[in-house]
Order: sequence, then C-alpha cells, then structure tokens
Amino acid sequence: MIVVNGQLKIENKEALVVGLGESGLAAARWLVKQGSHVTISEKQTGSDLDLDNGVLDDLLRSGIKLELGGHRVKTFTGADLVVVSPGVPLDVRPLVEAREKGIPIIGEIELASRFLKTSCIAVTGTNGKSTVVNLIGDILLKGGKSVFVGGNIGRPLTNYVGGEQRADYVVLEVSSFQLDTTQTFSPLVALILNVSPDHLDRYADYCSYARSKERISANQGPGQILILSDDDPLLRKFQHKNGPTVYRYGLKSKPGRHAFLDNGQIQAKLPGEKMITLNLDRFSLPGNHNRANMMAATLTCLALKISPPAIREAIEHFKGLPHRTELVDTVRGVAFYNDSKATNIDAAIKAITSFTGPVVLIAGGRHKGSDYLPLVEAASGRVKGAVFLGEASCLLAEAFGSRVPWAQATDMHNAVSLAFDQAQEGDVVLLAPACSSFDMFRDFKHRGAVFREAVKRLRDGA
Ligand code: ADP
Repeated sequence: MIVVNGQLKIENKEALVVGLGESGLAAARWLVKQGSHVTISEKQTGSDLDLDNGVLDDLLRSGIKLELGGHRVKTFTGADLVVVSPGVPLDVRPLVEAREKGIPIIGEIELASRFLKTSCIAVTGTNGKSTVVNLIGDILLKGGKSVFVGGNIGRPLTNYVGGEQRADYVVLEVSSFQLDTTQTFSPLVALILNVSPDHLDRYADYCSYARSKERISANQGPGQILILSDDDPLLRKFQHKNGPTVYRYGLKSKPGRHAFLDNGQIQAKLPGEKMITLNLDRFSLPGNHNRANMMAATLTCLALKISPPAIREAIEHFKGLPHRTELVDTVRGVAFYNDSKATNIDAAIKAITSFTGPVVLIAGGRHKGSDYLPLVEAASGRVKGAVFLGEASCLLAEAFGSRVPWAQATDMHNAVSLAFDQAQEGDVVLLAPACSSFDMFRDFKHRGAVFREAVKRLRDGA
C-alpha cells in the first residue's frame, strides 16, 4: 500500500515519473531523495529533448532509471505510484493499464501538495493565471510576507517542498492538465479567473475542460476561500456545496460582487470590512481583462489581511509580463505589440479589444480545435487587416472570408512586413495568434522573441 491513513508512503516504493519536462525532473529528483526507486519514462529520445548538458548523466548518477524514446506498459504496471506530467494525455495505453490495475496516478502538484506545510493560494482559469500569480506575489511581498511563486510558470512545487518551506505563502499557477491529476489538493485560497474554449484537442468537449478547472476547489471547505469572476457566465452559476467562503468580482457593480470597477477605479469590500478604493490612473496595462486580474489579486490579498496601501503600491508598480500585450517598439508611428501568449481565442479577443484605434492582426499557429467565429466577430470593425501564418493559416483565412482584408505569410519576418504594409501612422500591429506556437516555434516565448527580432529588423531597415 502506498497510501496509509491518507499519507503517501513513498520510501522504498517503485515510483514512475512520466514525462521529462521541468516538473517531471523536479518530481523525480525529489522522490529519489525521499528514498523511492525512481524510473522516468519519456516518449521522446534523449537527443530530441531540449535538456541542458549533463542532465541525463546526473539523473543516472543519482540512481534514477531512464526509459527514453517510448513507454513500456510493463514499466507502468510494475510501479507502486505513477507521477504523470501535465503534457502527457491521460488516455495513453500504459496509463490506462496502470489505472486498471489500481495503481495511483497523480501529478506533480498533487505529489508535492501532500508534503506542503505552507498555506497555498492557487490560481487557475483559461487566461490571466501567470499575470495574477505574479501580481499576488508582488502584493504579498509589499505587504511584508515571504512568498514562493511557482507551479505551471516553470518553478515546480516539489522544488519548494524539497527545501525548508520557509515562505509565508505559496502562490501557484495551476493549469487544467495539472488539475486533472489532483486528488486531495486543497488550497487556502483558490481562484478561477475565467473559462473559455481551449485545449479542445485534448478534452472530449468544453464541459470536460470546464469541469477540470472547477477541480481547484473540489476539496475546499469552511475556512477556505474561493474567488470567482462574476463576469464569466459559467462561474457566475458555480455554487460550492461544501462551504468555502466565496468572493466574486466583475467589471460593473452588481449585488453579490465584492469588487467591481467604478469610474475606472477598483472598489473592493469584504463582509464586515470597509470599502477600499484603488485608483488605477498609474496602472499601465491595457484592457479591462487586466483590470479584472487586479480585482482578483486585490480580493485575495484583502482576504489575507494585506493592507490597502501595500496592494495599491504593488499594483501601481506592476508592469506586466513579457509576451502579454507587450509594447515592443514603434516604427514610423506604428506601434507593435507582442501578445504571443494569446494562444487561444478569448485571449486574442481581449488583446484586440484593448485598443481603441485600428489594429492589424497577426494570427495563426497550431490549431487547437476551437471555433474562430468569435474572433472574427470581435475583429470586425476593429481589425483593419490581418496576416495569417502557420498551420492554422487556411482555417483562419476561411473563417475571416471577406470580413477583413487578409494576407498569408511564410514566416514571422514576412508576417511583420506584410502587417506593416497594411498599417498607417497611429495604428497598432498586434501579434495575438489565437493558436499554439508548436508548429513553427519551440514555445510562445520563442515565437515572441522572433516577432521582436522581426520588428527590430523592420526598424533598422525602415
Ligand atoms: P495564463 O498563465 O493563464 O496563460 P497569462 O497571464 O500568461 O495567462 O496571459 C495569457 C494571455 O491571456 C495573454 O494573451 C494575456 O494578454 C491574456 N489575458 C490575461 N488576463 C486575461 C483575462 N483575465 N482574460 C482573458 N485574457 C487574459
């Protein structure tokens, strides 16, 4: 038995880590330190993996066995515990067989949270997670707290659990794939920012995807807090049966909302507390979606008794994250914005609607199964021209039809130059792909970096 009285007993057990990404590596290293016998199974071969030099040798030296270039069913069915990485679909045959044998299959967040001694704030949602997680981290720091900010943003929770666990709070970004493999995870504060169609290439349907987001609060109860966007139609209806305290926020004042916007200022009030007002004059991020992000972070920190001046100061200094509606440069009066992280339809719509002037849109990449019609609707009247690239280029061209003049590009440099041709002084050229980057780039950061480089080349040659 690996679970005894609700505790995970991993010493001397056969632990299989599936997937050699950042969280898989962290989980394997941590498990071996706890005395587990660890094997890592990875679909890709060692040479296909983007690993630093010496990583594989270090793993072997620490006693970890490696199964690279494919998964053997026997490795899975012979394990006591399987820790599966978020990138691995849960219906691959070896996992199905292990599940049928009753072997526990969990993710790295579930594994680490079983050993976590620090209060946890966990943020999920289709979009805005990284922004909100960083913002909450900044506010807590300003409020005099020590924080570990991690999770899906590339700092695995096992790294924290493997240390001295000295922080006052852990602030975690948690994706739906990570939530699919939680069982007992129960954060002090859970946030669901929004739910819109995404990852439909991996979920059976939108409902399954939405249910996976709701798992963040599945184990919450009295004394814990759930923060929900009240602007999101699905979350507005969401009622929790087991009684965490629920706080809701939305762009307008409505009954039952604990934070809303009033004349461009945030008003926030928790039951029994005074109303606080946050002036957003000095807040520099575009779009109401970022104002909603501020409200989510504000409610979280008010609930944790952080003082309003600390919240105000952190918000004023928050400059946003790279690749999220980031101003790259202005060339002959045309402003170039990099929103490479807009990897789904709603994020791209939010980016487009952040601007009041005409926009030339660069979109495309790997199709993720969503319908482009809402993007076309949002673009009509705002987007004066579009450039499509990547695998989804033809699907986008078909969806846009004659609603917006468009061109197809061969690569990012070509896309930037075609977009510039369509723009005039005062316009915005916006990279908001509405697709993932993996058809042409390593990830969204690589795509954003190539966009920046293309803009630089344009400027140097302009
Ligand atoms: P995530 O970590 O959930 O991917 P990010 O903060 O990295 O979220 O932002 C991802 C994309 O979503 C960016 O294009 C960003 O501009 C956009 N975005 C940020 N906040 C929101 C929001 N509340 N609603 C919709 N889109 C958002």
